[in-house]
Amino acid sequence: MINLIEKKKRNDELTRSEITDYIQALTAGEIPDYQSAALLMAIRLNGMTLQETSDLTEAMRDSGSRADLSDIPGIKVDKHSTGGVADTTTLITIPVAAACGVSIAKMSGRGLGHTGGTLDKQESIPGYRIGLTQNEFRKVIAGCGCSVIGQTGELAPADKILYALRDVTATVDSLPLIASSIMSKKLASGSNALILDVKTGNGAFLPTEAQAIELAKVMVDTGNRCGVRTAALITDMNQPLGRAIGNSLEVIEACEILRDATSGRLTETALNLAAAMIFLAEKAPDFNSALDCAKAALSNGSAFARLQEMVRLHGGNPQSLVDHSLLPTAAEIKEIRSPASGWIKGIQTDRIGRAAMELGAGRKSKMDQVDLSAGIWMETELGDRVEKGDLLGRFHFNDPHKAAKAEKIFLDSFFYSEKKPKINYQTIYRSYGIQE
Ligand code: URA
Ligand code: CA
Repeated sequence: MINLIEKKKRNDELTRSEITDYIQALTAGEIPDYQSAALLMAIRLNGMTLQETSDLTEAMRDSGSRADLSDIPGIKVDKHSTGGVADTTTLITIPVAAACGVSIAKMSGRGLGHTGGTLDKQESIPGYRIGLTQNEFRKVIAGCGCSVIGQTGELAPADKILYALRDVTATVDSLPLIASSIMSKKLASGSNALILDVKTGNGAFLPTEAQAIELAKVMVDTGNRCGVRTAALITDMNQPLGRAIGNSLEVIEACEILRDATSGRLTETALNLAAAMIFLAEKAPDFNSALDCAKAALSNGSAFARLQEMVRLHGGNPQSLVDHSLLPTAAEIKEIRSPASGWIKGIQTDRIGRAAMELGAGRKSKMDQVDLSAGIWMETELGDRVEKGDLLGRFHFNDPHKAAKAEKIFLDSFFYSEKKPKINYQTIYRSYGIQE
């Protein structure tokens, strides 16, 4: 172990067997935390080559059980997002791609901090079960082409150990460590292809576009080296993506988009991700025809029918996707109005996410309970002109004490200008791995 740390300290490249042996010993509990901490800091400071990153990813992937989806016919395509605010894409993208013939066997996570997670959103649907047996999981996929469940088994336990250490040694912000952490879990979950939604902007895990690009490139390279066809989109998180932030509210917004085929930034992002999945599943000859297929599935109602069927097969009440009074509903709704007049030139997106978290929509720590009905419905976006007293958003909550704190955070998230601002943000900036 001292030799390994010494080598990384001198910025020499670690061999595949050195990395594999380390991860095996780590998983077996044989490495003292102080030695792992020193190695992590050396990696944080000196980086890793693409080869080292992919060797580390494979070793972490193999540290626990791996899902075997080979009995499910066709190319299985997975999706991962680095996390956003008002980012309901999965609930739209998955049924759209499934309606175009893609098989999706997805394991998802819960929300943490200012970003949400698909599992919590699904759990706001009455009766919906996120914990299926392997048999039930397969039955749902056979029935509707897609299923999103909670993580089963011990996927990449080495990542859990390393992440806990990174969290307390200031080594979370290392691109090879982030890439191997995300990709080891994705590669262990058994799909053949993967689309990554790498967010950039003030609500993203990595704010600058340069960091997002580098992370996307490393993860696409790692996935492809490890035998999973991987592509990425770099998408905007300089303002909440959709209008709803919070679990049952996001289900409502996803249903409205699927039912009415409404356009907007969330729809555009979801359709492009679905198109990438359709292309990776080889259900379309190129990205543009995949996008046409995705648009058709949205406008002809087949995507909404898929979501209803997926919910029914998971034990959920599909009627709640039409009659939203059947979803968890907050006791109080408060209109939040602008304290000033001007043009909205900036929105501090992670703060908006934090305001929703304060209302109960998210978790500060992993052990926190979420209030499925709580959240924010945005009524304004970048570039809007607002007058003092105009509506900025609506708070949904059950605890008035939480609302006061959330309101201050929310109002501090808006930046005004007297002149009409130029907004340069696009919805989708770049893509990797989907140009043929
Ligand atoms: N998400 C992960 O799963 N791991 C990281 O290291 C960062 C974000
Ligand atoms: Ca998310």
